[in-house]
Amino acid sequence: MYRTHDCGQLGIEQVGETVTLAGWVQTVRKFGSITFVDLRDRYGISQLFFNESLNTQLDATPLGREFVLQAKGKVVERSNKNPKLPTGDIEIEVQEFSILNAAATPPFTIEEYTDGGDELRMKYRYLDLRRSPLKKNLELRYRVNRSVRNYLDTKGFWDIETPFLIKSTPEGARDFVVPSRMNEGQFYALPQSPQTFKQLLMVSGYDRYYQIVKCFRDEDLRADRQPEFTQVDCEMSFVEQEDILQTFEGLFKHVFKDIKGVDIQEAFPRMTFDDAMWHYGNDKPDIRFEMKIQNLKPEGKVFCDALNDIDFKVTNEAESILAIVVKGASEYTRKQLDEMTEWVKRPQIGMTGLLYFKNNTDGSYKSSVDKFFTEEKQQALAAFCNAEKGDLILVLAGKETRTRKAMSELRLEMGERLGFRNPDDYKPLWVIDFPLFEYAEEENRWVARHHPFTSPRPDQVELMNTPERYGEIKANAYDIVLNGTEIGGGSIRIFQRDLQEKMFAALGMSKEEAQEKFGFLLGAFDYGAPPHGGIAFGFDRLCSLLGGQETIRDFIAFPKNNAGRDVMLDAPSSIDQKQLDELGLFMK
Ligand code: ASP
Repeated sequence: MYRTHDCGQLGIEQVGETVTLAGWVQTVRKFGSITFVDLRDRYGISQLFFNESLNTQLDATPLGREFVLQAKGKVVERSNKNPKLPTGDIEIEVQEFSILNAAATPPFTIEEYTDGGDELRMKYRYLDLRRSPLKKNLELRYRVNRSVRNYLDTKGFWDIETPFLIKSTPEGARDFVVPSRMNEGQFYALPQSPQTFKQLLMVSGYDRYYQIVKCFRDEDLRADRQPEFTQVDCEMSFVEQEDILQTFEGLFKHVFKDIKGVDIQEAFPRMTFDDAMWHYGNDKPDIRFEMKIQNLKPEGKVFCDALNDIDFKVTNEAESILAIVVKGASEYTRKQLDEMTEWVKRPQIGMTGLLYFKNNTDGSYKSSVDKFFTEEKQQALAAFCNAEKGDLILVLAGKETRTRKAMSELRLEMGERLGFRNPDDYKPLWVIDFPLFEYAEEENRWVARHHPFTSPRPDQVELMNTPERYGEIKANAYDIVLNGTEIGGGSIRIFQRDLQEKMFAALGMSKEEAQEKFGFLLGAFDYGAPPHGGIAFGFDRLCSLLGGQETIRDFIAFPKNNAGRDVMLDAPSSIDQKQLDELGLFMK
């Protein structure tokens, strides 16, 4: 038997017992003839005490960091307790030990805080995973996984696997492809999601399906994306949007309660896409704080009278003028405002400047454009924005899309600076009524905003016959947003062949092309497809949000770096000529 207990288990109750532990040497502290060793395993850390003056066999000199060690000894109460450690009341007075395996000096320290840089830690991921922050993340991931499964199980969902070697599923990204040796010159695609399979399972009558499954998308990796990531993928039959929202709101409430002890009683708010864009400037609003966008002059239409009859080119010529009211910030100094101006001028934000209007606490007004805006005008602007004494109004002016996006970022930045974005404050909501189509200027055609299997809202199906009005059609689709991050999305699907054909045609696909790519699905719709709909959640992201951290990478055991590489395996890598020949592939 290698051990009687684990390294996180022993406390004052075991004092006097003889135990055997096994684990990794985290630190060795030698003071003359006595040595303290911190022994670590998945469960915790225990202090070992070697006293060479009692027994010359207890010479700890050979021990190095990360040695795998087995030690037998007596549990004794520590004179110098460590309240930070669950086992900090005791130590083990070692009687005998054995080195199970020696270790080379690790390339970085394997402790709570490490000196290792990102790339180095990725290269030695198996060592980084020994550190407690990562261990905690993976434990959390496991618990979220179990919690999701438990909930879905009580609701009658079945976990059904779907294949990885498939034909393309369009989810808006590029496919990863796999050459087929047995079918030379032909390729499988890895699924961007199990979308079409889960729909086929509904046609098969499986009613409630889920899977916690890998999805593959060959995208340029924006900051926090992974080319392979995990989704909780779900589908239900004989449902309307309301059924899906209820079922999955239940799932989120269950998970928040289970994992964070947060009991959300009230229904999640629902906001239309149009409202989200109007009040928050994006489709994933962070509703932990108000500070809604004030539309002074959206899309060239002057809403705020204070802007009329002003001899100021910037506001007169701007297509869009948007404001936010920062409560109680009228005392912001010149330096702070200059800093904010620099912030909006950064290339990522791309504005040429920032206007501000202060409603001073004494009732006076002060702005960066006093030259153009009289006191009455400033007062009128403040009234339009519902600003009160002591508030600061920040205004951006420019092209509609850019200004709205910049204002959305500025709002988040101010929320951050004012401490409104506490990661432990969970404010989920549903965003609904997305546009069904988006116009892709470069391709000169309509594309599906979600994916081509999403149905129009039931009251708008008719508009599918009027191409001029495609832009107006709302999808029967929904996203779930948590604290400014989209964590999932789905839709009620098209389940009639003719509507699906109309959809493919609207996307510029010929009948033949639709048949070639999606004949299997269209064919299935001929054999009694039930009304159905579903949703999928980004599981990695959900875990990182529940863990209160920004990056998903540290919630994945073996992630890729920002260039899509696994630096530990050194993948992707070239393959040898024999493999290329077998696959019938030629390299350029
Ligand atoms: N397959 C979709 C996605 O991956 C989700 C869904 O519509 O269920 O985004």
